[in-house]
Amino acid sequence: MNPFSLAGQVALVTGANTGIGQAIAVAMAQAGAEVIAAGRRDCDETLALTGGGRQMRLDFGDPMAARDVFARERIDILVNNAGIIRRADAVDFTEADWDAVIDVNLKALFFTCQAFARAALPRGRGKIINIASLLSFQGGIRVPSYTASKHGVAGLTRLMANEWASRGLNVNAIAPGYIETNNTQALRDDPERSAAILDRIPARRWGRPEDIGQSAVFLAAPASDYINGAVLNVDGGWLAR
Ligand code: NAP
Repeated sequence: MNPFSLAGQVALVTGANTGIGQAIAVAMAQAGAEVIAAGRRDCDETLALTGGGRQMRLDFGDPMAARDVFARERIDILVNNAGIIRRADAVDFTEADWDAVIDVNLKALFFTCQAFARAALPRGRGKIINIASLLSFQGGIRVPSYTASKHGVAGLTRLMANEWASRGLNVNAIAPGYIETNNTQALRDDPERSAAILDRIPARRWGRPEDIGQSAVFLAAPASDYINGAVLNVDGGWLAR
């Protein structure tokens, strides 16, 4: 058996229509998984790239949206990738921008994990991969609800690993560095911020969505069966500085 293969596994990826989620869906399909590309809009482009699999409408405008998904069918791998960011000075930050980000990035993530675990724990096997951030470790600037949510994702990843590791569920997270997606378009459009960021990355390049896709395959595969509660930095060395 190839310990890096996902053959025979069913993987559900949230926010799979674009960016990091799309790259994870493609990498998992390449590793042999049957992929369910979940999104609040269509995932046709992703399915064209995976060359198979199916899609599911999942909008975390309702943070409990995934409550019934895992009882309906066997899903072996869950990737909680859907996430949003709102930028404003802390002194001006609104309750609406607080609630919107916490609901999608933290509340929906936790209750999707819970729904998955209720189905997977009796089977004694399953993999959860949460998408965290450098702002699970650092404070950032002008993104208070995002920083709070991503610190929360790291903490919850450890909590769920503590409760479920002995019962066959691996719960881990990936902390992407600065990756070329919609999420970072505003930063890349600002020449000063963009140059400052690049200058601080030891690898001297922005990350590509595929960099995260391959790491997710590892955390979904049997090769990582003894990894529990880890937050894997995939950041070109950013946090090492
Ligand atoms: P992105 O291109 O903006 O993708 C975010 C994904 O989340 C999209 O598919 C988006 O759908 C989906 N989403 C947002 N709100 C949703 C909702 N209410 N219900 C369902 N899906 C929703 O950004 P990305 O960079 O690929 O982000 C993916 C994850 O990586 C996020 O959790 C983000 O915080 C994290 N991350 C990114 C970076 C980076 O440098 N790019 C760094 C660290 C962490 P729509 O397309 O419909 O908006």
